[in-house]
Amino acid sequence: MNTQTPKILILGGGYAGLQAAIRLAGKARGKAQITLVNAVNTFVERIRLHQRAANQTLKQHSIPALLKGTGINFVQGWVNELNPTQREIKVNTETDIQMLSYDVLIYALGSFIDCDNAVGVREHAYALTPDDMTELRNKLANSERLLIVGGGLTGIEAATEFAESYPNLKITLATSESFGERLSQKGRTHLHQVFARLGITIRDNVEITEVTANAAQLANGSALPFDTCLWAGSFAVSDLAREAGLSVNERGQILIDAQLRSVSHPDIYAIGDAAFCPEMPTRMGCVAGMPMGSHAADNLAALLKGEAQTPFRFAYLVQCISLGRNEGLVQMVTADDKPKEQILTGRLAVWIKESICLGTVWVLYAERYLPGIYAWSKAERNIQHGNIRELSPDAVRNRV
Ligand SMILES: Cc1cc2nc3c(=O)[nH]c(=O)nc-3n(C[C@H](O)[C@H](O)[C@H](O)COP(=O)(O)OP(=O)(O)OC[C@H]3O[C@@H](n4cnc5c(N)ncnc54)[C@H](O)[C@@H]3O)c2cc1C
Repeated sequence: MNTQTPKILILGGGYAGLQAAIRLAGKARGKAQITLVNAVNTFVERIRLHQRAANQTLKQHSIPALLKGTGINFVQGWVNELNPTQREIKVNTETDIQMLSYDVLIYALGSFIDCDNAVGVREHAYALTPDDMTELRNKLANSERLLIVGGGLTGIEAATEFAESYPNLKITLATSESFGERLSQKGRTHLHQVFARLGITIRDNVEITEVTANAAQLANGSALPFDTCLWAGSFAVSDLAREAGLSVNERGQILIDAQLRSVSHPDIYAIGDAAFCPEMPTRMGCVAGMPMGSHAADNLAALLKGEAQTPFRFAYLVQCISLGRNEGLVQMVTADDKPKEQILTGRLAVWIKESICLGTVWVLYAERYLPGIYAWSKAERNIQHGNIRELSPDAVRNRV
């Protein structure tokens, strides 16, 4: 960085971007001009979107309130274009179009549910996004049959939450995988028991070829009828980075080095769901997004002081799944995210999951006063360098 007071621009105010912005502002006070751009002016707690859809009253966190006293400039708007040669971005705000320049960019535009991986999904299904929320709530309150497509975390958490909140709703969860296959035997057994108790039907190992107005068509010629369909398949990322000429993987995630810098454009750091680090691979999740945001902040603070940057380290510990408000599953995992046989269930699991959800917001407030307070596991992992198999677009599409 050559300029006297470098301009650091952060795109995306989700888990990774907000954490990076607030931690960096605290660590680099006065040494950089920091601007955060986000589409909306509230922090979208994506990990609670199923609770919102179930009509629970949850506290909203305004981004300007979270940034109060940090000196970060906030721009609410939609980033349309990234020009890495000119080092500028184009943002559409409510009132005008702004060109914002940067010396260093942190790209944290996250992900969204991919609604283009089967015909008819955009027209006939809902997704857990803030935009669909009001309509989805109304539909759920007036439906008899709900079909949820996707057997990952989003589908599981949504199915159990809705079963509790809408006891008259007949819920079916359909997935192309064997249900719960990413969990341990004990974890799978618990999941099946909770689904049976809540009356949720599981249709696993099915391939949905098309969604029509009232049914999902299966590859075997049969159909799953519904009044409301929630699409909870895999996540996709924006094409912005690919279009800007940055090196990306097959999913469109920015390829980053161990310091979290774009491998093609080292003045761009990329974090959270929008990035993929072959040297320290992580799945999309705030569990890795917040550590990445923190580490990018630490590296930039080091850079501003003329100190060396360090490689990102991250190890998994647990996977926490909410199963409604009264049940949960904490699956212990290895540092490489493989399930162990130990699990926690019941009230203890509910308490742990809720503490983690609260923690993701508390830490943002805490970083304002104690920058660097957030810590995570950096235990050794068994990563086989050069042997990272990224999913092809087809494989990703099929993992719903
Ligand atoms: C129901 C549900 C439950 C989940 N549970 C878990 C869980 O238990 N554990 C876990 O680890 N993960 C969980 N996840 C996944 C987790 O929410 C995401 O991985 C996480 O939000 C990614 O964080 P991020 O900061 O990279 O991106 P995001 O949180 O997606 O934030 C990106 C931000 O960028 C903004 N943005 C995007 N594009 C633009 C643009 N062009 N211009 C301006 N702004 C833009 C968005 O509005 C958003 O504010 C869950 C997801 C869902 C939907």
